[in-house]
Amino acid sequence: MSDVEMSPERWRRTSEYLTEVFGGRDPLLDGLMARAVAAGLPDIAVSADVGRLLSLLVSMTRAEAVLEVGTLAGYSGIWMARALAPGGRLTTLEKEPRHADFARAAFRDAGVLERVELVLGDALETLPRMRGPYDVVFLDAVKTDYPRYFELVRDTIRPGGLLVADNVLGSSRWWIDHAGDPNREAVDRFNRAVAADPAFEAACVPSRQGVLVARRR
Ligand code: SAH
Ligand code: MG
Repeated sequence: MSDVEMSPERWRRTSEYLTEVFGGRDPLLDGLMARAVAAGLPDIAVSADVGRLLSLLVSMTRAEAVLEVGTLAGYSGIWMARALAPGGRLTTLEKEPRHADFARAAFRDAGVLERVELVLGDALETLPRMRGPYDVVFLDAVKTDYPRYFELVRDTIRPGGLLVADNVLGSSRWWIDHAGDPNREAVDRFNRAVAADPAFEAACVPSRQGVLVARRR
């Protein structure tokens, strides 16, 4: 193994492999981000293999109540909404009205709109109103706000429920091994806070940009 080194090219092919094998083919989800980008939204949704992971986590917890912070085009939301238990609900928070409008149409196209509540506004203002209890909380909005998100959602997660967070290792602009970037510093504080919290058992799936999965004891 010592001669196998991770290069950007190898990482790109690895990501493609993960998407091909574990993402699965879905006509609606496969075309969604291309349409979103054409409509001017940023291309920063989770990859298909992470979408699959989110779906699996929602179904494994038999989730009836899921909270998402950062809707964008509804890509990760559709993966999770489809995996909800019958009668279940996804509440998803988004600050940009343009993103919310696009996502609402995407939820409708995917046939999950009646299971979704889209809450418009800055998550730091809307999160304190969210009562839970939630089976799964998925964080994916402002990275410098992750430590505050954790404080706000911590006690809304039921025992046995999950805290999931995207980009806990990096993004296209910063990485966890390079000190100094404010996103990196905040996410590092978040990771350490969750890992050290006796109420949670946490692990990181280093898929793409890192997904933290923590179970509330
Ligand atoms: N979870 C989505 C991607 C989310 S991208 C997916 O994987 O498909 C991050 C989103 O958070 C963007 O749509 C951005 O507009 C939104 N956002 C940015 N700042 C926010 C804030 N303060 N409160 C709520 N949402 C915010
Ligand atoms: Mg993300």
